[in-house]
This record gives sequence, structure tokens and C-alpha cells, in this order.
Amino acid sequence: MTDSIVYNISVEMIEKYRGENLIVRSHDPSELVKKLNEEDLDKLSYVQIHTLGVGIDDLLGWEYAVPIDLAVQNPLTDLPLLYQYAPLLTNHAVRVSVPVAPGFLNLAKLAISLDFSVKLEVLQPGRTLFEEMIQLAHYYLHQSTVSKPIEYFHSLFLAFYHNTPLTLWSIQEEDPTRIRYITDQGEEAVSKRFTEMGPAPDSVLVIRKFIEARAAFQEECDACEFRVNCSGYFKWPRPDYNCDGAKSVFRMLKDAAIELRKDLAQLGERGENRS
Ligand code: SF4
Repeated sequence: MTDSIVYNISVEMIEKYRGENLIVRSHDPSELVKKLNEEDLDKLSYVQIHTLGVGIDDLLGWEYAVPIDLAVQNPLTDLPLLYQYAPLLTNHAVRVSVPVAPGFLNLAKLAISLDFSVKLEVLQPGRTLFEEMIQLAHYYLHQSTVSKPIEYFHSLFLAFYHNTPLTLWSIQEEDPTRIRYITDQGEEAVSKRFTEMGPAPDSVLVIRKFIEARAAFQEECDACEFRVNCSGYFKWPRPDYNCDGAKSVFRMLKDAAIELRKDLAQLGERGENRS
């Protein structure tokens, strides 16, 4: 195991991975409280709850202020279950990870109104879902009541604003040099997204396949305005995926970042002229 790698493991595997940088997941919050100890906290990024609606009394009484990620499985059925997690905010940072699937827009907006952060789990969405992504990006950029980040919009907006080469792979916690998702069967994958794509969850194999597949979309990515920050993220697993929706969201965030930079520069100039 490597020092800088973060392993996303099931809580059942804690004995094997203790001492590593960890994200620990469970369907049952009480198992997290029972099995994680004070020593684990230094190397713990956050805990992840994979079944919403299970009682949270143990989490409410947990003495450690560990960040919590609520992993939504189905936005349509999980939406009403979000309310019960609001009391956790007293002692924990809470993020909702939501797959871009029917119902995600309403769920993301509800999560923000409850003061949770949001992370979108994106897997080559179709046109209708990307139209909703555009609506959500607009909401994130222009709704004054949004006080928590919606990822990947937030980090990408900052990357455009500061002109840094941060990639979606890194923002989405799928950088193969930094992260490993250990399946419940103990196999190593880059992320959960890769385990859902067929029978090759092994991270080395997945990366090799991605590099091989790259030939099919290299030209389009090389010519793409957003290649620095995307780096082919939307071309996996289907290299022929149409990126129009993805590019619209990139464009919106980039335009807003440029606009903000201009506004702040003008404000600065006005301030200098006055003094
Ligand atoms: S948006 Fe599409 S074409 Fe552009 S870099 Fe990303 S995957 Fe490649």
C-alpha cells in the first residue's frame, strides 16, 4: 500500500487497512461508530453512508466531528430521507453525493436548502439529464441563497477563475495516482464509477483500457477548449460519447469565472483611481 493513496473501503475491512489514508463506507451508520477509533481519525477523509433512512442516533451521539458523505442510490426515492440528516450538521460537515439520474435536480436543490454540500456523480448523462445539469449550474452560479459547494461545478469554477490545471479526475476523486476504491469483494478499482462498467474493476487494467481507448477520442479532446481541466473525463467508458452537454456546462462556468475576474479587476481600478 502507498502512503499518498486514499483507500475507499467498507468498514468491515478496517483491520486490514488501519494506518492507511481512508474513506470508510457502510450501509449501517452504527457500524462506523462502533468500529472506528480515535487513532483512525488522523487518516480519515470522511465516512460514507450507503443506505439512507437507517437510524442515525449513533451518529448523533458520536464524539468525533468526522465529515459525513451521504451516498444517494436513487434520487427519486431517497429525496424525502434527506431531512432526517439535518441535525448532524451541529457536529459534522455533511455532503450529499448524488448520481446524475432522474430526480437528481430536485434532490440537489433540497440538499443545498438543508445546508449540505453536494457532489454530482456523473456517468455520461444523456441530453435531458445534461439540460438539468445546466439548470443546476445556473442555480449554483446565480442563486444567492446557495452557500455550500456543488461539485464538480464549484472546484471547476475556481480552477477557471484562478486559471489552474485542476482536472475533473481530481475533483471527482478519481485520480488513479491518488485514490483506490476497494470493492466489497476486495478488488481494487479507481472509483465506484469504474466498478459499474463491466467486468474489469482492477485499476491497472482500467487505466490500460482507458489509454488504449484514448486513440478513438484523442483528436476530439486535443481540439477541445476544455481539455486541460477535463482530460478526457467524459469519454469513458464510451469513447463516442457526445460531449455537447458537458461542454455547455464547462462554458457556463468558464464565462462566469471570467466575468467575475473582470468585475473584480474593474472594482480594483476604481478603488485605485479614487485614492
Ligand atoms: S469535454 Fe469531451 S472532448 Fe472535451 S476534453 Fe472532455 S472528454 Fe474530451
